[in-house]
Amino acid sequence: MEEKKVFPCKNCGGELVYSPETKKLVCPYCNSSFEIDVDKNFNPEKEEIDLLEFLEKSPEAKGYEIILYEFECKNCGAKISSPEKRRDVNCPFCGTQYVGEAKESEGLIKPAGIVPFEIDRKKALSDFTDWISKGWFRPNDLKELHKLEKIQGIYLPFFTFDAKAKSYWSALAGYYYNVSESVPVMRNGRKIYETRQVRKIRWEPVTGEREDFFNDVLVPAIFSERLTLLYNIFPYNIVSGLKPYDSSYLAGFGVYNSEMSLKEVYMVARAQIEQEEIRRCSSDVGGDTQKDLRVKTTLTGQTFKHILAPVWSGTFKCKNKIYPFLINGQTGKVFGKKPYSFWKIFFAVAATLFFVLIILLILAVFGGTN
Ligand SMILES: [Zn+2]
Ligand SMILES: [Zn+2]
Repeated sequence: MEEKKVFPCKNCGGELVYSPETKKLVCPYCNSSFEIDVDKNFNPEKEEIDLLEFLEKSPEAKGYEIILYEFECKNCGAKISSPEKRRDVNCPFCGTQYVGEAKESEGLIKPAGIVPFEIDRKKALSDFTDWISKGWFRPNDLKELHKLEKIQGIYLPFFTFDAKAKSYWSALAGYYYNVSESVPVMRNGRKIYETRQVRKIRWEPVTGEREDFFNDVLVPAIFSERLTLLYNIFPYNIVSGLKPYDSSYLAGFGVYNSEMSLKEVYMVARAQIEQEEIRRCSSDVGGDTQKDLRVKTTLTGQTFKHILAPVWSGTFKCKNKIYPFLINGQTGKVFGKKPYSFWKIFFAVAATLFFVLIILLILAVFGGTN
């Protein structure tokens, strides 16, 4: 069974919102503020759960996915239901916010922790304005031209994984050396031989092994066309930023449902770790160049925790095109697609071609004498 959380002010009944600035719940109507009880002994490392053991018991488990099906708003009586991907809904008539929370068991994993919003709406808007005014080849008037369509603060579900990786690798390391060779060249229509230094590669088989510890590999538990944007606003500081999960942090913000099971998200994390191990083994090979790298990685001691982390998700419009962007709700890092100025790029390319042409002309005039 799910329950519906609401956040009414104890003094006036108004809707409370979480304030990233004061780290308290504040009432915009009567200005009361309320502390959130935080367990001082909370240690994110203690929240780690043994992955394989857990998957054996509940192979299909996923993070919270709760849809609040049609129910009556207890404030105004309107019939409302939460959108499919979200577990929060605001009554469209009176604004009352409801957040779906699950009771334990049901194959739904309760978040162990939450990275609360540090960036409030005002800061998010100014971070966005700074970002939109920067960059090469952007229209000069982008700052004036763009129109912010919407921006919304939302918590996204993630899993983080710890694991020990042991990798064995083999490869051919290549070492450059030069030899003098006689090569035929044409001079004034005659074939002559010239001595030249030619670079060769000496290949040596090498093998090695390495061990790495991966801490808090963070993978979102959602499908979204914005995932590439999301990876670009990483990292989140989990070690110092994680608080014990408390739905009070959700007051005034949206929260996405988990869409992928723990097992599916782990597949993504494992592929990322293996990719990183290939990169690290490759840098162990040595030599001037390398080929035929083969890496076998095994992971042990995998643990996980389910967490929520914040983003400001927005879109802006420029010349009738819509551009999405994301802002890391903890650090303020912005990433998105920006329009390029056709004319700026056109003139830059034209100027480059012009210089190349001049240099070719100079070479043709002064360099073509032998
Ligand atoms: Zn109040
Ligand atoms: Zn209502």
